[in-house]
Amino acid sequence: MSRNQLSSVIVSSLRRTRPTFTSCVQPPHHQSISHCRFASSIPTKHKHYDVVIAGGGAVGSVLARLLLDDSIGSSIGNIIHNRRRPLKIALLEQRSSPPPLDSLIQQNGKQQSQTPHPRAYALSPTSLSYLGSNVLQSLIRSNRCGVYNSMQVWEHDGPAQLHFVGEDLIGAVNDGRLVDLDRYINSGEEQNDASASNNPRKGRRRPWLGALVEDAPLVSSLWDELKSDDRINLLDNVQIKSINAPSTSQMGNVEPPPLVKLSFTQSTINKDKNEDAETCTISTNLLVAADGANSLVRRTVGTFPMMTSSYGRKAVTCTVKLESSMAQTAFQRFLPHGPIALLPVWNSQADIGSSEKSKEGPIYANVVWSTTPSEANHLLSLSPSDFTATLNKHLCQGPNVNPSLLPNNSNIPSIPFVSTIAKEVDSLLRTANTALTMGTWTEAPTRNYFRMPPKSIGVVSPILGFDLTMSHVTASSGGYTSPRVALVGDAAHTMHPMAGQGLNLGMGDVNSLAMLIKEAVDSGMDIGGTSLFLDRYNQERMIKGSAIVGGVHGLHEIFGCSGNLPGSVADGTYDSGMGSSGGLQSLIGYSRSLGMNVVNGLPLVRRALAEVAAGATPKGI
Ligand SMILES: Cc1cc2nc3c(=O)[nH]c(=O)nc-3n(C[C@H](O)[C@H](O)[C@H](O)COP(=O)(O)OP(=O)(O)OC[C@H]3O[C@@H](n4cnc5c(N)ncnc54)[C@H](O)[C@@H]3O)c2cc1C
Repeated sequence: MSRNQLSSVIVSSLRRTRPTFTSCVQPPHHQSISHCRFASSIPTKHKHYDVVIAGGGAVGSVLARLLLDDSIGSSIGNIIHNRRRPLKIALLEQRSSPPPLDSLIQQNGKQQSQTPHPRAYALSPTSLSYLGSNVLQSLIRSNRCGVYNSMQVWEHDGPAQLHFVGEDLIGAVNDGRLVDLDRYINSGEEQNDASASNNPRKGRRRPWLGALVEDAPLVSSLWDELKSDDRINLLDNVQIKSINAPSTSQMGNVEPPPLVKLSFTQSTINKDKNEDAETCTISTNLLVAADGANSLVRRTVGTFPMMTSSYGRKAVTCTVKLESSMAQTAFQRFLPHGPIALLPVWNSQADIGSSEKSKEGPIYANVVWSTTPSEANHLLSLSPSDFTATLNKHLCQGPNVNPSLLPNNSNIPSIPFVSTIAKEVDSLLRTANTALTMGTWTEAPTRNYFRMPPKSIGVVSPILGFDLTMSHVTASSGGYTSPRVALVGDAAHTMHPMAGQGLNLGMGDVNSLAMLIKEAVDSGMDIGGTSLFLDRYNQERMIKGSAIVGGVHGLHEIFGCSGNLPGSVADGTYDSGMGSSGGLQSLIGYSRSLGMNVVNGLPLVRRALAEVAAGATPKGI
């Protein structure tokens, strides 16, 4: 059997594997009935491309946009970009192309009476800047950006809170380590490091900590921009049939190094409304796998061992209508089995200047509730009104005092004196921790008080469930790359959504890869033909990816979300004290509260954390 035939067999057998999403989730643009084909005038059969991107979701589309954006690039490219050889790119997407943003938002010139889709991402300022000012402005104009400039994190059985505010990022913006999004949006001016550092930020609005953007408008607006560029072939309804990628030994011994060959079918609807499938073969210098967690490219090329581990947790997500404004705040309350996040979606009633009209109308929020699979299944089985009541019960509660550190009354030594001392010490420690929390809230008026999240008044979307898995490519093989192939986004890593970092990490991957591809082109080198650029990509992303995936895993452990503590949503025992069994568990909880208090009270530490989440360049780099 030839290598090609072998790949085809592998591809068809892998295709039978089910994706990891557990509910029947079809992102909205899959529902599009128009089977369009956005091929350029050049026929796609036997065509050669500099870069082929498999997967036109958020990550693949942003990579294409960054590659086509000549205003950003390598330092050589910034000087000579007018003379940069135009890249030829193909983007292969298995689903139908997303509808244009306008048609998604409006029908017959009228605002559609739809509600936000629960598949949405909290994007950092840095990731938002990778969308480019045009895409970002269209999302803001069409009211599809849920901006937040403050964030409140607290726990169910302790007094501690973390309050991040936009002001925490001003230092990084002033130093040019973080994009000045305000200026970027208002002027449409793309920033590079040099211009940012020469323009200190003065007298502006609070910087955004981030914005929540739904998947469908995000991908639609990116495709809208890509469609207008004839350097890219956007091919939808594609089924990859075979991938023939060179081996490491071939790369060293054959001159010129062999290319990647891909064959695929593309289905179109003919004039009789029947489906036609056309088979195409293409070659490329670099194949980028942006085809998600279940990446067909990664599995077919077969040289990417992954470290994978289930969190034993499931995320439940939906859109709710609120009774009052979120005031541009993202809320997250930690329960014993995982957090509930309430995130502003669309900018309804949010004052972001240009969107006056959005001050009217309903207020929506995106809910992401991570918990054990059995609790998640219980939540998924609830009626919308029961879900709303359960959500309010578990989210709309303030901080608590720490539960007793003593195991439980029956185990306290019966000697009266010892017992009294133990109780006194326990009470003193718990009071001290609570007092410390109150004391650390005084640094700025914006973080002086706990804000109760607004109440939900109804679920207005389907309630979806996702199994949560941690995965990352291993360093033992090529990591993020193999000859002429690179992994980006969920194809290379997945993690718990508690820190909202999955897509942000993917955005970082594509920014790094796009810069290196431009550097290769500007140096006149074969993009994937030398390990020079791909090795650098691998090193950069291996460090970043391991740190973020490992960090999120650490947070999951610190917050005790990985255990199976007593108490449950179903029997309502989380907040009655029964969720805490005293002893070691309470001690861990107590230390966690103390740790959160300390972080909240130390501006340098808190700002450093806010900067990491925002995607700022660390100081001194
Ligand atoms: C509940 C939940 C909440 C989350 N919240 C956040 C958040 O707030 N912030 C954040 O940063 N991240 C978040 N994430 C993570 C985020 O969803 C992912 O990191 C992100 O969607 C990955 O994007 P991607 O483009 O790599 O993959 P995908 O979104 O899976 O896109 C892959 C694309 O490739 C296409 N494709 C697949 N196979 C093929 C093929 N064989 N050929 C051609 N095309 C193919 C698919 O159709 C799709 O368009 C969350 C995740 C979950 C589960």
